[in-house]
Amino acid sequence: MENVAGSSTGQDGEPFPYMTDDAAFDWMCQWRWGDVGPTCPKCGSTSRYFIASRRMFKCGNGACFHQYTPTSGTAFGSPKLPLPKLVAIMQDIEAKRSAYSTAKRHGINPKSAWIIATKMKASMEGEA
Ligand SMILES: [Zn+2]
Repeated sequence: MENVAGSSTGQDGEPFPYMTDDAAFDWMCQWRWGDVGPTCPKCGSTSRYFIASRRMFKCGNGACFHQYTPTSGTAFGSPKLPLPKLVAIMQDIEAKRSAYSTAKRHGINPKSAWIIATKMKASMEGEA
């Protein structure tokens, strides 16, 4: 068992204090839409219903009713990682932590961290 200074890896199999699913969802909404709030990626309507049981939005435009999440219509699509973990990784990337260091901290492949960083960039550039 190594004890490297600066490493906060615990012994309980939970090396990082991830936020709750709800908090991660809110963070993603803020990241994606900011103060504008959730916007339908299909028709652009900001009128929507929230389906709490599925943690999704349903467009309030009667001609649309598209169901979407904060990652719909971004490079993320349907992320494979649990949202709290994905958000923690995104926060590290935003804090300019290196892909290698981020990957190590969250137990993912450095290439995966790099791909997430690329997707974040692509998603932001896709915004007006
Ligand atoms: Zn819509």
